[in-house]
Amino acid sequence: MSVKRIMGTETEYGVSLAGADRFNPVRLSYDVVDGASTPATRHIRWDYRQEDPVNDMRGHRLERAAARPDMLTDAPQLNITNVIAANGARVYVDHAHPEYSAPETRDPFDAVAWDHAGDRIMQAAAERASAATGTPIALHRNNVDGKGACWGTHENYLMERSVPFDRVVRLMTAHFVSRQIYAGSGRVGLGERSETAGFQLSQRADYIHARVGLQTTFERPIINTRDEPHAVSERFRRLHVIVGDANRMETPQVLKLGTTSMLLWLLEHADGVGFDVDALCDSLELADPVDAMHLVSHDLTLETPLALAAGGTTTAWMMQVRLRAAVYEAAAATYGTDTRGEPAWPDRSTTSVMAMWGQALADVAAIRHADDAERLAGLEREAGRIEWFAKWRLLERLRSRRGLAWDDARLRALDLGWAALDPRASLFSRMERLTEHVLDPGRVDHAVVEPPEDTRAWLRAQVVRRFPAETIAASWTHLTVRDAQGGPFTFDMSDPAAFGREACADALSHAGTAVEMLGMLHS
Ligand code: ATP
Ligand code: MG
Ligand code: MG
Repeated sequence: MSVKRIMGTETEYGVSLAGADRFNPVRLSYDVVDGASTPATRHIRWDYRQEDPVNDMRGHRLERAAARPDMLTDAPQLNITNVIAANGARVYVDHAHPEYSAPETRDPFDAVAWDHAGDRIMQAAAERASAATGTPIALHRNNVDGKGACWGTHENYLMERSVPFDRVVRLMTAHFVSRQIYAGSGRVGLGERSETAGFQLSQRADYIHARVGLQTTFERPIINTRDEPHAVSERFRRLHVIVGDANRMETPQVLKLGTTSMLLWLLEHADGVGFDVDALCDSLELADPVDAMHLVSHDLTLETPLALAAGGTTTAWMMQVRLRAAVYEAAAATYGTDTRGEPAWPDRSTTSVMAMWGQALADVAAIRHADDAERLAGLEREAGRIEWFAKWRLLERLRSRRGLAWDDARLRALDLGWAALDPRASLFSRMERLTEHVLDPGRVDHAVVEPPEDTRAWLRAQVVRRFPAETIAASWTHLTVRDAQGGPFTFDMSDPAAFGREACADALSHAGTAVEMLGMLHS
């Protein structure tokens, strides 16, 4: 029973670019990652077109090439190139958005460290590109432009294929609808185009319109069925989660990854410990999950009743209490309990995530019960852990003092400012010291330049760094290098947990060429 499993995140960044408009596209071509990419793909070409004038929301408007082919003079898909960063991540351009796909990690705290490392890598790249082109480029870690466009923050979890997918759909739907109360990053505006003034818990909720589906850019589903495991497919699936928000705070992000991983453990082990997961799913089945997704996000009272399929109602908070209790029950059945009734959690990460989950639910309860402005203002510590609440408090203070409506341009600009990666421009950076830090100090600095040590990301990064001229291609599962005759030699890394630091140490210290090294690992 552990939060540990292979996982990784993807972050698409919002871009604003001074001086670009639809008639005058700016074309950028620059080094994303210094010195650590394969030679053939060192440059990422980033074709950027912008529809609105710059002064409107600081020109924050992004067009998805696929959705708007009329905006294009040539097909940017042809320009998509990959760079493997020094830390084993993948950096590329997904339509209009620069994207950072973190290297595979085995633990939610590591996943967040390597995810936040991406912010630093991308900010440094944007600064270099700004200097090289003379065009100031600002990146944002958010999901919406408030005018209809939405882009993704994905989570990926390796899980056993033997779990019936129907169970995954049922349990994860209950989780994804309700986890917004502590995982949302907050958004000014209601509706896809912010057509109604207001504030809501989640960036992403209003753009979710289906229960289950393969698509990720239209009619987005709560459960995405993409099934590219990047692992041995007979045994594993990769659960690709597209409903999450781009969090800036550490706590909600660790929680998002940790609680989801814990519930996947429950699905994988329920039968073995005699836990009736179907009964749990039945009792949490919502009459209309898509509607509930929107209701929960729009509900600042945190009390809105959600209709259950079997009749009666529940709340998002109660659903989370029940999910956490289910994990406790199954863990106690597996490992027994100590004198305080606490299951014997197997590692520090799991112990921490379970405590943080309990704290998050206590925080949400405190916010729910604070029934006047003075009490809400007193919830400092809760605001350091619950991101939407921190953002709301800041904006609400300004709003009530100045008598602003929620659709006031100043509030929308502050919402965008929260997401700005540049610390000089970022509202979040200014209050970051007031937020809870759950990563070990220096962890993110380390993750900018080094790969995780316990997954194949280690080997990928070493090959690309040590043998750049010999590397032809690197993907999640394969490395292709030049052999002695100059021809391609492809190496299979289907097991994401293999080829970490220890496994590669010998080969790395003895081999003189890439092909020699991979040959040693083969045998
Ligand atoms: P898209 O950008 O279209 O959503 P995608 O989700 O298929 O594409 P990538 O952007 O390439 O893929 O990112 C893959 C993510 O999955 C990375 O975060 C990576 O760390 C993670 N990952 C790689 N292999 C596995 C695996 N076997 N199980 C779980 N996660 C994995
Ligand atoms: Mg991706
Ligand atoms: Mg993805």
